[in-house]
Amino acid sequence: MQLFDHEDDCRFCKMGQFQRISLCEDESSIKIAYKVLKPGGLPDVYVCSKCRHMYRHFKGDLDQYHAEEYRKNFPTFALEKRIFHIENLLDSIQWIQYYISGYTFLEIGSGDGLFAEKFCEKFKIEKKDYTCCEINPNLAAQTAEMGFSVANDSFLAVENVKADVVIALDVLEHIDDVFSFAEKVSDVCKEMLIVQVPVKRSTCNPNPVPGYDDIPPFDGHVHYFSSVSAVKLFDDNFKPQFTNITEKNDVANGPEIQLILKKRAEKKKVVPKHKIRFLDVR
Ligand SMILES: [Zn+2]
Repeated sequence: MQLFDHEDDCRFCKMGQFQRISLCEDESSIKIAYKVLKPGGLPDVYVCSKCRHMYRHFKGDLDQYHAEEYRKNFPTFALEKRIFHIENLLDSIQWIQYYISGYTFLEIGSGDGLFAEKFCEKFKIEKKDYTCCEINPNLAAQTAEMGFSVANDSFLAVENVKADVVIALDVLEHIDDVFSFAEKVSDVCKEMLIVQVPVKRSTCNPNPVPGYDDIPPFDGHVHYFSSVSAVKLFDDNFKPQFTNITEKNDVANGPEIQLILKKRAEKKKVVPKHKIRFLDVR
C-alpha cells in the first residue's frame, strides 16, 4: 500500500502536507539521487512540510522483503557491538527501574532475545513476566529455548496479549501502516511504552531503478520519524515522559530517537477545528 502521496495531509502532526522530495537529502547519496532522477523521475520519498516526517514508498511486498532479502543485505552486527549498544541503551533508561516493579512486559520484534535477556538481567525481572513477539520462526525458537514465552507471529496478528510495558526497538521504521500498529499497541499496553527509532539515514529511492545497479540496497526503512511525528503517532493514548536523541554509535550506528510514553487514563479528546472559539480582541 502507499500510505502517503504527494500533497496528502500529514496524519502525524495534522498540520503539514507530504511533498515528494526532488533529491535525496543525505549528502552521501546526492550523487546517486541525481542519477536516479534522470531515468526514473523523482524518488519515491515524501516528507511532511511541518513535522518533517519522511515516508519512503517501497513498491514491493514489504513482509516478503524482510523475510527473504533484508538480512542478506543487512546482517546483524557482531555480538560484542550489539551488547555495547544494548548496555548503553539500558543505562540511558535506567530510571524506569523505580516504576516497573511487578510489571509484565511485551517486546515486539525481539529478534534472537539478546535484548530481552539483558533487560531482565539489568532490572531483575523474571523471564516468566517478559513475553517476546518475533515473526522469524528460527529466532523465535531460539528465544523460547532461553526460557521466554514467545509469540511467533506478526504483532498485528497476535491475539489475547496484554502487558504493562510494551517495548519496540528499531521496529516501527520497518512497518508500513504505523497507524494500525499504534492502535494495536494501545490495546495491548496498560502502562508504559518504550520506543526507539532511527533518525533519518538513507533517503535514497527504496525501489530499484532499471539501468542503475549502484543504488544502495533498501534498508527496510519506510519511515523516518522526527521527534514530533514519533510522539504524535501515539498521542491519542499516550503522553511523553522522556524523549531523547542519542549520539551516533551510542545505541546504534547512527543517532536514534528514544521515547518513553505513559498510557493516558482516557483517550485524548480532539477538539474539532470548527469548535475552537477565539475571544474578540478589542
Ligand atoms: Zn507532519
